[in-house]
Amino acid sequence: MGIIVEHVSKRFDNFQAVDQINLEIKTGSLVALLGPSGSGKSTLLRLIAGLELPDSGRILLTGRDATYQSVQERNIGFVFQHYALFKHLTVRKNIAFGLEINKAPKAKIKARVSELLELVQLAGLGDRYPSQLSGGQRQRVALARALAVEPKVLLLDEPFGALDAKVRKDLRIWLRRLHDEVHVTTVFVTHDQEEAMEVADEIVVMNQGKVEQVGTPAEIYDHPASAFVMSFIGPVNVLPSDSKIFAGNGFESPHPEVFVRPQDVVIEIQPGESTVPARVNRLIHLGWEIQAELALDDGQVVTAHLTRDRYDLLKIQPQQRVYVRPKEAKAFPIFYSI
Ligand code: ADP
Ligand code: MG
Repeated sequence: MGIIVEHVSKRFDNFQAVDQINLEIKTGSLVALLGPSGSGKSTLLRLIAGLELPDSGRILLTGRDATYQSVQERNIGFVFQHYALFKHLTVRKNIAFGLEINKAPKAKIKARVSELLELVQLAGLGDRYPSQLSGGQRQRVALARALAVEPKVLLLDEPFGALDAKVRKDLRIWLRRLHDEVHVTTVFVTHDQEEAMEVADEIVVMNQGKVEQVGTPAEIYDHPASAFVMSFIGPVNVLPSDSKIFAGNGFESPHPEVFVRPQDVVIEIQPGESTVPARVNRLIHLGWEIQAELALDDGQVVTAHLTRDRYDLLKIQPQQRVYVRPKEAKAFPIFYSI
């Protein structure tokens, strides 16, 4: 048993930040809360931590109702985007902070801090002050500090959000490895789908205070439950369902819009069965793949992604006439709320 969120809602004035959320997070898993800014991710995390009280619903931690427990009683480790290390304390003292508050024996604190310094790969930097560390190192200290008291649950709110792209990427891999070592139930908030896919066992996609879908990265990507999830989790062409590109190939849809991922737009040099003509507007080299911007005869613009090999084979050029067809497409019913 890990974390159970039961029918939890939270309103701020007139704004429903979290709307009837049900969620189960398994013990020892690493789960990402993914969604755009304002979708209620931080509020849900703060409700789990006990930093906010829900208007309705319950929160269970390891099988026990924790809805009205204080932050301290819940035994949770928390790391925020903006590292809140104590500037006047060394790395060692920062990590030891919670243990000292709990009046742990001195020898135990010393051993635990050394162990954590190893774990977050900062052995040797224990006597430095936060100002003598890089941003990435500071966040690793914040993580070690959160882990020091052996929390039941670790909550991370965009912990790498303030760091530059390269450091963020390194820390993601590092966090995944750390989790594989310590197995503490971890909930990780991010608005970056790539980060969620790379780090998490399971992704909870949030939108407007609600859960849109829960699944493994592969499930979310291959079987998105809604138009929102499909658009949020990767690039997509949204085309009218009466476009000729869908005629006679099984992708006709009663819904007004059809979604096609750029890598599912197949480009041919010769007309084939159920292809439609298009013109190459622009080619963009993205390194390992090529992005082709195509215009259909009805003026509709379609983006296609080709592998390097396919591109070398086709040798397409700007302005060239080509023939395209969707290899895969999805449409979703629209739910109207009353
Ligand atoms: P996210 O983390 O997904 O960006 P948040 O959970 O922080 O979203 O916020 C969801 C919405 O609730 C936002 O529109 C925000 O303005 C609002 N909100 C969050 N906290 C408060 C608060 N303490 N008072 C008023 N509104 C808040
Ligand atoms: Mg937030």
